[in-house]
Amino acid sequence: MAIIILDRDGVINQHSDSHVRSADEWLPIAGSIEAMAQLSQAGHQLVIATNQSGLALGHFDLDDLEAMHAKMRALVEDAGGEIAAIFYCPHSDEDHCRCRKPNTGLLDAIEAEFDTSLHDCYFVGDRMADLQCAVAKGCKPVLVKTGCGDRTLMSLIQSPDPALIGTTVFENLAQFADFALR
Ligand SMILES: [Mg+2]
Ligand SMILES: [Zn+2]
Repeated sequence: MAIIILDRDGVINQHSDSHVRSADEWLPIAGSIEAMAQLSQAGHQLVIATNQSGLALGHFDLDDLEAMHAKMRALVEDAGGEIAAIFYCPHSDEDHCRCRKPNTGLLDAIEAEFDTSLHDCYFVGDRMADLQCAVAKGCKPVLVKTGCGDRTLMSLIQSPDPALIGTTVFENLAQFADFALR
């Protein structure tokens, strides 16, 4: 069944301008865990693609990141679903890496790992970098208004980007899941 790519911060859990730094600070957005469980139960493979520059900047370390992800996985499993995989970019802008979104390195790695194409898969995010990354790989860009999504929507309206014209917009991950499962 189809892979769905999910950004993490601002889509699954609450965004913080000063980085989410620990499992305690990792707080799900209302309805997001249940939405993931429903998508998973319907046969979708949920793969997370997340920029975590807080690692490069020293705001938290790999143990902290593992703890956040263990918490996220446990919540989804308790709700009856599962996360197929988590891919993260540990770099900051200064590293000029190929995996920091909007670059497509994370998606390339997902395609290699799952031996599949992500063309036409949904990619749900709250930032311009997510949408740009999605279209660069032929995914269907989905914007949620949680996290930075409101701000992103405002910029999209103020300076429309022809490449992002096919973006669909939802209030949150729960509303996207309702749509995807219809
Ligand atoms: Mg985000
Ligand atoms: Zn990177």
